[in-house]
Amino acid sequence: LGATAVATTNNVNAAAAAGAVPRRRLEGKVAIVTGGARGIGEAIVRAFVRHGARVVVADIDDAAGEALAAALGLGGACCSYVHCDVSQEADVERAVGCCVARYGRLDVLCNNAGVLGRQDPPAANGTKSGGGGIASLDAAEFDRVLRVNTLGAALGMKHAARAMLQRRGGGGGSIVSVASVAGVLGGMGPHAYTASKHALVGLTKNAACELGEHGIRVNCVSPFGVATPMLVNAWRHRSHDDDEEADGVAPSPPSDEEVEKTEEMVRGLATLKGATLRAADIAEAALFLASDESRYISGHNLVVDGGVTTS
Ligand code: NAD
Repeated sequence: LGATAVATTNNVNAAAAAGAVPRRRLEGKVAIVTGGARGIGEAIVRAFVRHGARVVVADIDDAAGEALAAALGLGGACCSYVHCDVSQEADVERAVGCCVARYGRLDVLCNNAGVLGRQDPPAANGTKSGGGGIASLDAAEFDRVLRVNTLGAALGMKHAARAMLQRRGGGGGSIVSVASVAGVLGGMGPHAYTASKHALVGLTKNAACELGEHGIRVNCVSPFGVATPMLVNAWRHRSHDDDEEADGVAPSPPSDEEVEKTEEMVRGLATLKGATLRAADIAEAALFLASDESRYISGHNLVVDGGVTTS
């Protein structure tokens, strides 16, 4: 280590020894988190606020979004809510506009909103894989899932990039999308979901290539299974062997028993043993990519999967 590095290390160690409060990694930043009202998005909102960001929660579940913003709002100064269906461009544009009007800037966009969608039923003479029956693909459902998971993220990138580029004093910013292991492997979800998340990983790389020259980084986080309402609800339906919609604005909240069963199933599939993947783990990864700690990382897909995609 050079002299400067040694001095820095010594300072950090001295601060840690003195019990200093951990550094707030998004101090002074302004962020939007889509789908932030519950599940992984809620964990991301909480982590961003804890690390000093002012956050706009953008969701379609108004009751949950408003309740979360009120709980974290500290007098309305650091967390607010805006209704935003990410598949509707006018909503996305309005959410970014509200953020800039309220806080004067946008530094971080987290494209977290997503839907799992229904599994296609097996065709009469077909087989049903992890993705359902391709021979009975429902085109309308395919369209719905891609509109939210892929177009929604693309619209977020479009309007966030505009706001970041127009900022006085130069561009810069970080866009973090929540993709999935289904964006890396096949057989991890319904066909539309897998296609939507593969597309999101590709979109991230394209946007990173383009926006890099303006200092805007674009990355994604790809979780394996987290026992959120989305995943628990999917297992509820699967265990009853029906093909009802597996996501929605307000499915009944998962019981403790359902969460435990879902986590047990995920633990069984993960290569890494002895740990349980939680929404807070995904929030940590998103926080890292949002913060300046990852200032030279762009176009990356940070997989948080206990080794599932490597085995
Ligand atoms: P969830 O269903 O528990 O929460 C999703 C949130 O997004 C909800 O608040 C919902 O109201 C909101 N939302 C849904 N459609 C929306 C729309 N059109 N516009 C705005 N908001 C919308 O799901 P989750 O498990 O927390 O998933 C969050 C993200 O993580 C999704 O993109 C999902 O694909 C991804 N993911 C989840 C898992 C998992 O195991 N839970 C694994 C991999 C990836």
